[in-house]
Amino acid sequence: MRTTVGIIGAGPAGLLLARLLHNAGIDSVVLESRDRAYVERRQRAGILEQGTVDVLRAAGAGERMDREGLRHDGIELRFSRRRHRVDFPALTGGRSVMVYAQTEVCKDLIALQLESGGPLLFETEALAVEDAGTDRPRVRFRRGGESGEGGEGGTEEVLECDYVVGCDGFWGVARAAVPDGRTFERTYPFGWLGILADVAPSHDELVYARHDRGFALLSMRSPSVSRLYLQVPADTDAESWSDEEIWDELERRLETDDDWTLRRGPITQKSVTPMRSYVHEPMRHGRLFLAGDAAHIVPPTGAKGLNLAVGDVVTLARALVHRAATGSDELLDTYSATCLRRVWQAERFSYDMTTLLHGAPDATPFEERLQLARLDRITSSRAAETDLAEAYTGFPVG
Ligand SMILES: Cc1cc2nc3c(=O)[nH]c(=O)nc-3n(C[C@H](O)[C@H](O)[C@H](O)COP(=O)(O)OP(=O)(O)OC[C@H]3O[C@@H](n4cnc5c(N)ncnc54)[C@H](O)[C@@H]3O)c2cc1C
Repeated sequence: MRTTVGIIGAGPAGLLLARLLHNAGIDSVVLESRDRAYVERRQRAGILEQGTVDVLRAAGAGERMDREGLRHDGIELRFSRRRHRVDFPALTGGRSVMVYAQTEVCKDLIALQLESGGPLLFETEALAVEDAGTDRPRVRFRRGGESGEGGEGGTEEVLECDYVVGCDGFWGVARAAVPDGRTFERTYPFGWLGILADVAPSHDELVYARHDRGFALLSMRSPSVSRLYLQVPADTDAESWSDEEIWDELERRLETDDDWTLRRGPITQKSVTPMRSYVHEPMRHGRLFLAGDAAHIVPPTGAKGLNLAVGDVVTLARALVHRAATGSDELLDTYSATCLRRVWQAERFSYDMTTLLHGAPDATPFEERLQLARLDRITSSRAAETDLAEAYTGFPVG
């Protein structure tokens, strides 16, 4: 098999890149180790920055998002039983975010890719990227058979490419083909116990709550489905929490002095997400490029993971189109540095939000007071609040 751009991974990064290249007349092949149903059901991010919304619309993937997505003009911060609304448009010159689940973004992009006849091979696992430093990089892959290390069966084949893009997430194979990389990492001693519940959200915007018992987040997937999270120790088994215990704990951490109440409903999904900050530099080796979670991870507190992935592939698609039109490598050469600048801003913001709102198990009373002082500052200074609003609604791409 041969193509111009070989893309490993059909998450948001790989699918959007394929779409942007298709729109520009550049052919690509997407290899995805999982089946279509799995990719379309995997619950993850749900907040799209203004820039991401604009990109999806321009790529022709915004029709259902505009119909079913929920525009949000702010978030609420809760601490010491107080509520404070951060008004995005007022602080940022009109910017907002969109609540539209990653599952739906992926469904829309998969449908477009298949409609346009673009090759998207499910249950096809990339095994290795070879010759990335040459002008003939290749992806060795296996179709069918068992996936994962030591997997057997299926047929092994090779995809010859002009360029390879690793959009294969944190656990993928592409990053291993970037020699002499440097990694920067931080893990956190806590994770998020996340639930999906068939009940209308108890507030019409996201609520980020700092409580002495730990962080809680109230969010939503649609007008009838709530998504809520509790900070828990990193090694927590989701099944060790009964549904009633989860609702009771959410109620405690979200409690306010006014008459706000939490709506309860049947929990349909429960899982624990670990928290990690991670950056791999550079995001390129020769004709191999890394995009999205393959190159960087942020804790979900800043809602940046999916949006960073989108920023990377927009930058890369622009560089590949420029190369096709002019023969110049100029934008490909600056790809890694351009993306990393934005990535580090998102790392900073996600780290700030995480340490602002979560209780560290070894936090001293002094550090707890500082946390409250930071919240007090954000909710009483327009400059501090604007900084949060600008970062939350998104850093410019490119
Ligand atoms: C449990 C969880 C919850 C999250 N919650 C949030 C949130 O609330 N807010 C937020 O902003 N972000 C969240 N994120 C982060 C966000 O989902 C990611 O940043 C986003 O999915 C990145 O997209 P991606 O395309 O780079 O990678 P991914 O979505 O990870 O896609 C990678 C794809 O590559 C495939 N793949 C992997 N290895 C191979 C291989 N060898 N061959 C072929 N295919 C391969 C995978 O199956 C997958 O489909 C969450 C992440 C996780 C894991």
